[in-house]
Amino acid sequence: MATELKTNKAAFYANPGTTEIKIVELDIPDPGPGQVLVKLSHSGVCHSDLAVCKNSWGYLPYPTPANQIGGHEGVGEIISVGEGVDGSTIGTRVGVKWLNSACTTCEFCLSSLDASCRSATVSGYYTPGTFQQYCLAAANYVTPIPKGLTSELAAPLLCGGMTVWSALKKASIQPNQWVAIPGAGGGLGHLAIQFVKNSYKAKVIAIDAGTKEEFCKRLGAEAFFDFRKYSDEELAKAIKDITGGAGAHVVLVTAGSQKSYDQALEMIRPGGKMICVGIPEGEETPIKGAVPSNIATKQKQIIGSALGSLQETVECLAAAEKGEAKVEVRIEKLERLGEIFKDMEEGQLQGRVVLDLS
Ligand SMILES: [Zn+2]
Ligand SMILES: [Zn+2]
Repeated sequence: MATELKTNKAAFYANPGTTEIKIVELDIPDPGPGQVLVKLSHSGVCHSDLAVCKNSWGYLPYPTPANQIGGHEGVGEIISVGEGVDGSTIGTRVGVKWLNSACTTCEFCLSSLDASCRSATVSGYYTPGTFQQYCLAAANYVTPIPKGLTSELAAPLLCGGMTVWSALKKASIQPNQWVAIPGAGGGLGHLAIQFVKNSYKAKVIAIDAGTKEEFCKRLGAEAFFDFRKYSDEELAKAIKDITGGAGAHVVLVTAGSQKSYDQALEMIRPGGKMICVGIPEGEETPIKGAVPSNIATKQKQIIGSALGSLQETVECLAAAEKGEAKVEVRIEKLERLGEIFKDMEEGQLQGRVVLDLS
């Protein structure tokens, strides 16, 4: 028997409602029936983690328990398997996602609406997530990582990437159409810019705070608007002006900001689509302008999109492997999670932070 003692370093949400983090050493868990144990090398840090840590999403059914292990963009190697799982998967590099498990057989799972599966469990919310070195996940719900992607670049695609991939599919974007992206400089938005440009050959109008302009244009945005410099009416007019007078074909709201939702409908041309992805913190209000006459006479569509399916995750990773999008990552240590959450709260993060868990 090897005598080397191994423990599982993890980050606890010590006091949910605040960003207080406690680093702890735990026993390495054993996989139960249908599970795999993944030795994680990397985990992305998503805005949803901050929302869960701070209890700031009023729509979640329960407050986050103390000592929750967050995280839901993990990449690592399967090192052991539970009862009923094929042992030949040991050694495979896989990703652990927001849904730690889903039934895979209900009507929602079978129609790419996995996020609505009633028996799904969530990594980092009542199920230990990926802010730890050893993580359990459902064997039939982990995602194989393609050889051409490094683990740190693959991690943020497991939530941010597949979420925008799924949302863009729902928008049925045609080449040369205009896609406006509120929150374009963030974790989801910066991937959306690249997929719109490279996978759909369409044109991006990036909307974010002015400090993100250079970043968004470097990724391929044709135009950039600092939303803080315009009234809602001025912003809608500016977008109409650069799109030939009619407005964007699609607005993909990646920002979790009520303001972004309230600005979006007036940016869209008749027949256009608004895709709702980001979820505002705190009290939410109905989308401004979403009255029947505006929706009916201008033939606009408001479409919701949450996460992506197993299949869409595979497609997203394959597109990234082909070079259609590259995550802008900053590598940090697990111990800095509390400070990273603070940076995130201030809206100053560009792209994605990925934790090196080794
Ligand atoms: Zn996420
Ligand atoms: Zn299901």
